[in-house]
Amino acid sequence: MLSTDTSIYIDVQPTEDSRIASLDENNIPFGRVFSDHMFVADYKNGAWTDFKIMPYGNLSLSPAASTLHYSQTIFEGMKAFYNKNDEVVLFRPKENYERLMRSSERMCIPKMDKEIFMQGLKKLIEIDKKWVPKSDGSSLYIRPFIFASEGFLGVRPAEEYKFIIFTCPVAAYYAKPVRVKVETKFVRVASGGTGNAKTGGNYAAALYPAKLAQEQGYDQLIWTDAKEHKYIEESGTMNIMFVIDGKIVTPPQGDTILDGITRKSLVVLAKDLGYAVEERPVTVIEIEEAMKNGSLTEAFGMGTAAVISQIAAIGINDIDYELPAVETRKVSNHLLKELKAIRLAESEDRFGWMEKV
Ligand SMILES: *Cc1c(COP(=O)(O)O)cnc(C)c1O
Repeated sequence: MLSTDTSIYIDVQPTEDSRIASLDENNIPFGRVFSDHMFVADYKNGAWTDFKIMPYGNLSLSPAASTLHYSQTIFEGMKAFYNKNDEVVLFRPKENYERLMRSSERMCIPKMDKEIFMQGLKKLIEIDKKWVPKSDGSSLYIRPFIFASEGFLGVRPAEEYKFIIFTCPVAAYYAKPVRVKVETKFVRVASGGTGNAKTGGNYAAALYPAKLAQEQGYDQLIWTDAKEHKYIEESGTMNIMFVIDGKIVTPPQGDTILDGITRKSLVVLAKDLGYAVEERPVTVIEIEEAMKNGSLTEAFGMGTAAVISQIAAIGINDIDYELPAVETRKVSNHLLKELKAIRLAESEDRFGWMEKV
């Protein structure tokens, strides 16, 4: 019989100075409050080693660490939260592991056993369980990432890396409906690039076009394909869906569109609830037509942070099209309600998405 005992040894160094008393659950600024501990693993001499959980704190790095110069780095974003049975649960964490490994392939970062990721993750959340907020809609945001730490200025895959997981309690996210501009000059990524890897450079490169759009009064961009600016890809750092003639339409995952776990889950859920879902290329022209003739009734972005982020208006070539009020959006409100019910164990986990910590 094969052994199934693949548990890893994690050296736990608990903090002597917990900051939990300073956490005000009703007032948590996003991404600025960090839990007491972090999980750290090092890659050296060809293997992942030295698994530890230690107090959250600054790192000591060589200024020549190759990530700082050449961006050999990848990350994930996920959440833990309390369900209605008072259990701390994760939403599809293995999908995050698998996506991290796909990103690692593209960025020449060494692979890691699933057990390191999963056991490091679960142990860290167990130890910082008090940091999982309980108020309605709040959660513990989890940031696993890997970066090249070798101090060497040559351009080649590094020989040393760090894998770190840290967490941030976050309040219920009220996403104000956003005004977005269809971008037709700048690109997020091109086919053959790094668009379906969660890697730092993609986000840095998007800042400038987003800033220009903000100066024009928009909150975010809708990215189009790099070749013709004809097809819609994503909205900011989220995937995108439209409801046209009652049907859900979303661009398919591909090498320029990040394979979002929220998007993938909503597609499965929507089909299960009886909606027609079309995963296919979506053109800017078709969206403009559908906004003009009123057949487009909903547009929204989706991702782990906001789950669903409603789009209030879409600007195409300097014309702003206002979309129907958020309260009238039956499909997205229905999907959000059903997804929430599964996550909180208020309805059956019929797709096997939830995992207890
Ligand atoms: C992370 C991310 C998403 C959303 O993915 P989720 O798994 O749903 O959080 C979409 N687009 C981009 C560019 C992203 O980085």
